[in-house]
Amino acid sequence: MISVTSSSATIANSIMNGQQQRTNQRNIMKKTKNCVLINRRRTTNNNNNNDTYIRGRRTQIITAVSNSETPENNWGESTQAVHNGERGGRPRISDSLTTPIVCTSTYTFKDTQELIDYQEGNYGSFEYGRYGNPTTRAAEEKIRLLEGGEDCLLAASGMCTAVTMLLSLVPAGGHIITTTDCYRRTRQFIQTFLPKMGISATVLDPSDYDGLQKALNEHTCSLYFSESPTNPYLRCVDIGRIAEMCKPKGCLVCIDGTFATPCNLKALSHGADLVIHSVSKYMGGHNDVLGGVIVGQGAAVSKVRAFHNILGGVMDPHAAYLILRGLKTLSLRVERHNSNAQRIAEWLEAHPKIARVHYPGLKSHPDHEVAIKYMKGFGGVVSFEVDGDLWQTAKFIDSCRLPYIAPSLGGVESLIEQPTVVSYWDQGPEKRAEIGIKDNLVRFARGIEDYADIEADFKQALEKI
Ligand code: PLP
Repeated sequence: MISVTSSSATIANSIMNGQQQRTNQRNIMKKTKNCVLINRRRTTNNNNNNDTYIRGRRTQIITAVSNSETPENNWGESTQAVHNGERGGRPRISDSLTTPIVCTSTYTFKDTQELIDYQEGNYGSFEYGRYGNPTTRAAEEKIRLLEGGEDCLLAASGMCTAVTMLLSLVPAGGHIITTTDCYRRTRQFIQTFLPKMGISATVLDPSDYDGLQKALNEHTCSLYFSESPTNPYLRCVDIGRIAEMCKPKGCLVCIDGTFATPCNLKALSHGADLVIHSVSKYMGGHNDVLGGVIVGQGAAVSKVRAFHNILGGVMDPHAAYLILRGLKTLSLRVERHNSNAQRIAEWLEAHPKIARVHYPGLKSHPDHEVAIKYMKGFGGVVSFEVDGDLWQTAKFIDSCRLPYIAPSLGGVESLIEQPTVVSYWDQGPEKRAEIGIKDNLVRFARGIEDYADIEADFKQALEKI
């Protein structure tokens, strides 16, 4: 009897201790805005009062950076890129300075009450790898703060992000407005897969604002979606004007800012609701990782996240680590990409063997005024037309020694390609002409190498044709 009473008292005591601990935690969480993760673990001794020690090490209470605690809004862009998302809100393991790669497919809970607390939003943790990961979360937070969005979601690739976004924000039978010049796979999805769900599209020249108004008047449009600058002609859209036209109609504005990066263009601050990026490009920055991100209005990102949790195009935590690392030097790299690209664009424009250069930093570009209005720099991609046919253009490319012949952009290495050959070879000349892909077009993704080396290389390659 005594022993039963004694053991009941111990159980009651332990329940009380547990409840007390949960209450304490909730209080801490209430005090700490944006608390995202508390790192509680089972301990090695069993006195039920020992959550603060694991094998002699003090456990950490992990909290996110809150606006009041950290003056992130006052920080310069490079400071933000280095520190945001990592000064809190992520696991602190062995006092590691860098954010650890958390390799786990699932997360544990101490007991049922902790799981219920988690479900009710009173205990910050993660449940399962498809729904989130601390390394990925830190990268999302860094990007969210760089773009100035309410919420942010990373996914396995830029295409995964675009497809998940379109499928979750546009209802079956709905209508979208998009622009002519864009990444081929995005166009392919819009034109061949969305119609299966009865979703139609108005496809406009990026500067056709009358067409935009007409489409908004004639259809119930859920979404306006354009790259800015576009791929490969670097067209830039007037985001503020588009937002003013779309908002009264309840049409969300989403900009694919991959070519710009948040360092050159803050589309959300000009009225866009959402921004997506292929983070495989400048954000990763080293041609070694694939990923995509959507950032912006909280309610819209939540809808995308709900569908993403089902579709499952999850970013691997190793990739998230590479994105985190890439982002720390984004601002530095983009400065170099911008200046390298501007200089080579000007040089090419003056070269007699170049028929035309497409770069928004040039006065000759049709959207130069729009670009100046919205962009701090014009990015690292320069497209140009060699004064010659498909094979003379190929000869120029083959004669270059420094840039790799490869698709993609945004990495430290310069890459060069002929869109006709890399992306549109299967389309044939007629279809290519229809979508405006010229055989003599070269897309040059300027890396961060010394400017003089690329100029010298282009000079010798142009002499060969
Ligand atoms: N958006 C743009 C503007 C792109 O250029 C690309 C790819 O080149 C994508 C999206 C797709 O990104 P990812 O290759 O990461 O799927």
